[in-house]
Amino acid sequence: MQKIEGYKNDMAAYEAPTTEALEDFRIKYLGTKGIVKAVMGEMKNVQPEKKKEFGQILNAFKIFAEDKYEALKAALSSAENKTTANVDWSLPGDSIPVGTRHPLSIVRNQIVSIFKRLGFAVAEGPEIEDDWHNFTALNLPENHPARDMQDTFYLNQNPDYLLRTHTSSVQARVMEKQKPPIRIVCPGRVYRNETISARAHCFFHQVEGLYVDDNVSFADLKQTLYFFVQEMFGKEAKVRFRPSYFPFTEPSAEMDISCTVCGGRGCSLCKHTGWVEILGCGMVHPKMLENFQIDPDTYTGFAFGMGIERICQLKYRINDLRLYSQNDVRFLRQFTGAV
Ligand SMILES: [Zn+2]
Repeated sequence: MQKIEGYKNDMAAYEAPTTEALEDFRIKYLGTKGIVKAVMGEMKNVQPEKKKEFGQILNAFKIFAEDKYEALKAALSSAENKTTANVDWSLPGDSIPVGTRHPLSIVRNQIVSIFKRLGFAVAEGPEIEDDWHNFTALNLPENHPARDMQDTFYLNQNPDYLLRTHTSSVQARVMEKQKPPIRIVCPGRVYRNETISARAHCFFHQVEGLYVDDNVSFADLKQTLYFFVQEMFGKEAKVRFRPSYFPFTEPSAEMDISCTVCGGRGCSLCKHTGWVEILGCGMVHPKMLENFQIDPDTYTGFAFGMGIERICQLKYRINDLRLYSQNDVRFLRQFTGAV
């Protein structure tokens, strides 16, 4: 009985200013190895005729402990509410760490925003394409040798469907529906059946552009792309065009820019030539316009296409294509703050 009185006095004096102190109280008195349980265990040592009386005392003791616990809990929560009311809301908050934009997104957005300023609209299309939109409509009929360069993934059940090898398929879809003037850029992911290495991957990203209207000339093409290069790489960047071949343009050219590393003096990136290739372009082939019922005697146009990874490589010196899709945070964190 004396012990019980002692415990009661201890409990009455107990204060719990923190959650930890409250939990200490619970464990000490109400826990499975706590004092209330231990005192209850004394019941077996009580003489039978006193069991009833002692049982009532024990019960009262247990309720006393439980009430005290509830009271401490209530006091603590009201104290906490009071503290919240006293918070200075004008203090600066803790910053929440945010992710970074992927370098490919950063560069794609930059490319698109430059062409948007020149009046180009963004067009998008499906990544699963049919043979017509990906090849045939673009002057790449079956057995055309250029198809070998663009091996891709076909759907077994219907080989007419494939993963698009370029975003030119979007140009085809736009020309199908829209009559000139057409002025679009098509950013997107494309696929090739390639062994994955530092220099090749089974998927990558392109931005293609198409401008069809009356009186569109090669001079327009050059000036448009020169403007793009200056905006992207700086005013000192130079361009040069080399004759090339694409089935959907005639004449065709590849465009080089002065090396972004050495500025033209020669380094390992530009293989000591001072120039690096960045895109392919040309005047839209008349046959292609005819494929979409656009009269090639009335309308002319130019088209270009570039790899986003390539522009990224030149801007950020990323030399391994696999880095883009490995999700290594050490790589991605380097682009914190880039927009
Ligand atoms: Zn160089």
